[in-house]
Amino acid sequence: MKTIGVLTSGGDAPGMNACVRAVVRAGVANNMLTVGIRRGYTGLLENDTQILTSRSVGGIARNGGTILKTARCLEFKTPAGIRQAVENIRALGIEGLVVIGGDGSLHGALELHKAGIPTVGVPASIDNDIAGTDMAIGVDTAMNTIMEALDQLKDTASAHQRAFLVEVMGRRSGYLALAAGIAGGAEMILVPERSFRMQDIFAEMARARERGKPHFIVVVAEGASPNAFEIQSALKEQGEPGFEVRTTVLGHVQRGGSPTAFDRLLSTRLGTMAVNALSEGQSGIMVGVQMAGRMMTPLVDVLREARQPDDDLLGLEDLISL
Ligand code: ADP
Repeated sequence: MKTIGVLTSGGDAPGMNACVRAVVRAGVANNMLTVGIRRGYTGLLENDTQILTSRSVGGIARNGGTILKTARCLEFKTPAGIRQAVENIRALGIEGLVVIGGDGSLHGALELHKAGIPTVGVPASIDNDIAGTDMAIGVDTAMNTIMEALDQLKDTASAHQRAFLVEVMGRRSGYLALAAGIAGGAEMILVPERSFRMQDIFAEMARARERGKPHFIVVVAEGASPNAFEIQSALKEQGEPGFEVRTTVLGHVQRGGSPTAFDRLLSTRLGTMAVNALSEGQSGIMVGVQMAGRMMTPLVDVLREARQPDDDLLGLEDLISL
């Protein structure tokens, strides 16, 4: 394989740039030329491309967004769109493709694989709603953004004895709400996966008041039902028991910002894995990481020797500085 393509598609996620950089540099290490396809599948249909070199991706890992831009493309979803994309990929001499994006983009990647284009997916979605990986690109940065917002809201909530309903992203997954809510010390977290009744919220508020809490922070995932505004109306109807209620929608600030160290590292690992998978002849797969799991270890074993860096980190160090 001499030429590979890379695109970012769907919702942007902090870390996409670090992943593009890793793809390009892993390509260089494998003697491959990397063609960057701009604006996701839209650019694929319009032949909007640029050659990416080690130098052209220098210094981008620290930036949010994506230098390749991203887009949603309805035309690509049609059989004619897929046919056109395959034709363009072949005409560009692209022999393998890395698709960085969320669930929708990965559906598109599967279609290209089925149409005979060697394609590997990389999960990027701040919602962390993609199976096959414990963490997707962008989740950690978004989690930190929400946590900081919760810290700040707590200050003002405490000053006024207020309850804040904080809506965070996550239409079909409550991961972001749960993880950020736990890290940020929310009193209640409402997610699409778990049903809840207004009585539960009233009861929790009453308990918080009894315990003398100065604030009541509820993190509400976008996909929770009822949603944050419906909850606010219901609480107001009940005379705002114990706390004055306000709603804050964090919105698109959750997508932006400089990626955390974790996201840069994850993006680098996944981008490199994707290129290596293509060069090994793999297609129709998504690369991912496993992180979940807890362990207990006897102290004598813990203290026997110091933990060494993983082999794959030692390998990445040479490659990513190309
Ligand atoms: P995300 O990748 O963040 O989930 P979208 O769901 O908007 O974002 O998907 C991004 C793009 O992927 C869509 O605009 C479309 O071009 C493509 N796509 C989505 N679903 C499919 C599908 N079932 N088949 C082919 N392409 C798809």
